[in-house]
Amino acid sequence: MYFSKSFIPILKNNPTEAKIKSHKLMLRVGMIKQSSAGIYSWLPLGFKVMKKIEKIVREEQDRVGVQEILMPTIQSSEIWKESGRYEDYGEEMLRIKDRQKREMLYGPTNEELITDIFRNSIKSYKSLPQLLYHIQWKFRDELRPRFGIMRCREFYMKDAYSFDINDDEALFSYNKFFLSYLRTFERMNLSAIPMAADTGPIGGNLSHEFVILAETGESKIYTDKRIFEVSSKDTVLQKDSLNLLRNKFKKYYAVTDEKFDQKEFDNKVPQEFRLKTKGIEVGHIFYFGDKYSKPMNASVDFQGKKEFVKMGSYGVGVSRLVGAIIEAKYDDKNEIMKWPISVAPYDCAIIPMINKKDKLNLEKANNIFSYLKSNNLDAIIDDTEENLSTKIKNFNLIGIPYQIIIGNKTEGENYEFKEIGEESKRIKIEKIVEIINKKK
Ligand code: ATP
Ligand code: MG
Repeated sequence: MYFSKSFIPILKNNPTEAKIKSHKLMLRVGMIKQSSAGIYSWLPLGFKVMKKIEKIVREEQDRVGVQEILMPTIQSSEIWKESGRYEDYGEEMLRIKDRQKREMLYGPTNEELITDIFRNSIKSYKSLPQLLYHIQWKFRDELRPRFGIMRCREFYMKDAYSFDINDDEALFSYNKFFLSYLRTFERMNLSAIPMAADTGPIGGNLSHEFVILAETGESKIYTDKRIFEVSSKDTVLQKDSLNLLRNKFKKYYAVTDEKFDQKEFDNKVPQEFRLKTKGIEVGHIFYFGDKYSKPMNASVDFQGKKEFVKMGSYGVGVSRLVGAIIEAKYDDKNEIMKWPISVAPYDCAIIPMINKKDKLNLEKANNIFSYLKSNNLDAIIDDTEENLSTKIKNFNLIGIPYQIIIGNKTEGENYEFKEIGEESKRIKIEKIVEIINKKK
């Protein structure tokens, strides 16, 4: 891809309407474009990042045995009346009438719809557990949409649902998601802490929010710093292994403000490990038993008896993660972004110095591009005639983690290669490919 032909509308200055780093950067480098309050179009750069995040989320759901489906965005009000949430959900729900005057809505979440799908097909406990997910747009008519795609009205979410025969099996399902979330966020180079959370309007009795630390986050968090050391390595998909993992986390205090208790915090956490800060919720898992299965009559036959299934739901804010990663990785003061390679819009930027008379550097850039491509690396060439320092500044903002700079001094077979935020070095192209691929 040539930068001159790409749809990456970079702004010269920071947009004044944005208050936090991620919103600022996403508008500055043209990742998103607001279409109306809290509703955004995703431009190529932003969309590429979101797709990579989605791919990781999908792979980690598949890995713990969750099956992918796709439910619609528009739902009928009927099932929400059955669960009793049609009134409860209030003004955050976008309600629509179709031409037959039927009450429809744009789904803010899918507990009702999935329960309806389940109850129509699964009749025996022998088909349990059922773990299902989809990745789909949601709409919540937030009172104050803000911070760009961090708190918007239309957003992209992975939501999964589990169905089990009893509490013990349901806990096993819950723990599978717990593990898959740790792995998901780790692959994005984020340290997300699972926090005992309030269950809010979804209700139930067991819940964790996965929160990444960021000064601009909207959740207040109180935690024992030692929780950062807990690792999910060696955990396998078996009950005792997963319980062990949960217990390792349980040892450390980590809660959001709804559950915060100063006395408990002081008692349980030695002073040197106390951390009070803010964070961004990127995932949320709930166990709520028969909260929906009972009113909606979702049951299975168990030894001749009718049992309401025990359910959980598990969300990841796929679109919010784009902003959350920026909040965690962007150096606002020096205007340097560095995407983790797993979600970077491109693997490498090729930045040749180009002037009208001399096209030799562009030729070199084309050759490098082909070589990277043949090694499965995705690059972008800045083929514009801007001066080199402006180009480098732009790419520091865009945040592609590696740069190959072709200036006048480039000689022979060594290229100036730079990992954003590190010193540049002169090395051969084969070595460059090796370095990038090692990180991938
Ligand atoms: P919050 O507390 O941030 O309002 P929530 O608890 O209402 O979120 P959940 O119902 O748990 O959200 O949804 C699952 C995930 O979807 C959240 O963890 C978050 O990452 C994402 N999400 C929720 N609301 C929004 C929104 N308005 N804009 C972008 N992402 C959102
Ligand atoms: Mg939540």
